[in-house]
Amino acid sequence: MNKSIPYWNPYLETLSRESLEKLQLKKFRRILKWTYTRSKFHRALYEKVGLIPDDIKSLDDVRLVPKVEKSMMRPVQRKDPFPYGDALCVPLEDVTSFRQTSGTTGQPVYQADSWRDWEWWSECWATLLWAQGYRPDDRVFLPFGYNIFVAFWAAHYASEKIGCETVPGGVLDTPSRILKIVEIKATAMMATPTYVLGMADVARKKLGINPAKDLGIKRITCAGEPGALVPSTKKRMEDAWGAKVFDHAGATEIGAWGFECACQPGALHINEAMFLAQVEDLDTGEILSEPGAKGKLVITALDRLAQPCVRFDSKDIVELSNEVCECGRTYRLLPGGVIGRADDITKVKGVLLAPSAIEDVVRSFPGLGNEYEVIVEKHGDVDHILIRVEVDDEAMSNSQELEAKLKNQLRVKTNLGYQIELHKLGSLPRYEVKAKRFKDLRKEQE
Ligand SMILES: [Zn+2]
Repeated sequence: MNKSIPYWNPYLETLSRESLEKLQLKKFRRILKWTYTRSKFHRALYEKVGLIPDDIKSLDDVRLVPKVEKSMMRPVQRKDPFPYGDALCVPLEDVTSFRQTSGTTGQPVYQADSWRDWEWWSECWATLLWAQGYRPDDRVFLPFGYNIFVAFWAAHYASEKIGCETVPGGVLDTPSRILKIVEIKATAMMATPTYVLGMADVARKKLGINPAKDLGIKRITCAGEPGALVPSTKKRMEDAWGAKVFDHAGATEIGAWGFECACQPGALHINEAMFLAQVEDLDTGEILSEPGAKGKLVITALDRLAQPCVRFDSKDIVELSNEVCECGRTYRLLPGGVIGRADDITKVKGVLLAPSAIEDVVRSFPGLGNEYEVIVEKHGDVDHILIRVEVDDEAMSNSQELEAKLKNQLRVKTNLGYQIELHKLGSLPRYEVKAKRFKDLRKEQE
């Protein structure tokens, strides 16, 4: 692979819109037929609405295909072919990898992949790593135990696939991981935004190491949580590490469907040669196409075969755009990436509240720590939002002024009022993966 070519797959990544849509339709019809003939689960869904694969003649027709939600997968699993059940589309002996969803609530969903699917996973990740400037002379450190969760496994293999030297950093504790970066002179790293910030804190406080000056990390890819496209969080990470920080989006059931490129357009590209992404209005379910429209991402992995992902309701909230990226890729951009989850974006006092908006404000204040919590409750009939933040000693001595400024900026950004609670640095809960900072307690109160 020629290092100077900016694209992993120059042909696919620069296809015209017309050719891209033609390819998507062809692949969609193929995967639909595949699930119709091989998955009892999908076939039952389609028969219920009287749909046969030949009914889909255009991308517009795709909306006729029933959607799949994560909750629908649980009852069809844990039976033969065990444990994947009715959605498995290949013989059980073709399955080579077992993963499960990493959500913090509910029974996990199992995910089967064949070896061919695994090649597909690493191809998705290779596309994004190459786009973010990873090249064969990089030494990539992954400071995680990958466990049964897919993201860092796929990242690891893709990193090897493009020729990087790839170093797994599981089992070690945080200080040992930082020392490993020093020891091997790693040039790139992948982690959750929470952990990227946490590691920098540990390096400074426990080891007297300033990551921006003392370590040679040039680029960091974030996975597992949004945040790398929240401007103030990205800035905190880039300042702490002296590195470029990039976002990516994916899920166990879907694949690695979106990535920020090296131009850092403040947006994610959808990998449209491998995924069909449609954005649905939250209230009406209508497919949106206007730039600026916000809605829920419904997505199909066009080439994943063992346990396919067809019209999966990702619950990710995104905004559409017609902006063209400087990198030359024709893949569509989603400004701000995943701006929230349908479960989290709730109406508070009738106003749509995206947790990322709160994060952006909180992390733009210099005296505030990286951790915060948002708690939405009902006081009588009225919604009430409490934000707990951590502050350093200097900021604490000016607490009234800080509180007033914070309240004001939050109001400007979200049109809502807040109660603020200030806590000492280090006193709020810490997370390595899947931080749970947004707590809506209103349902429990009903
Ligand atoms: Zn780009």
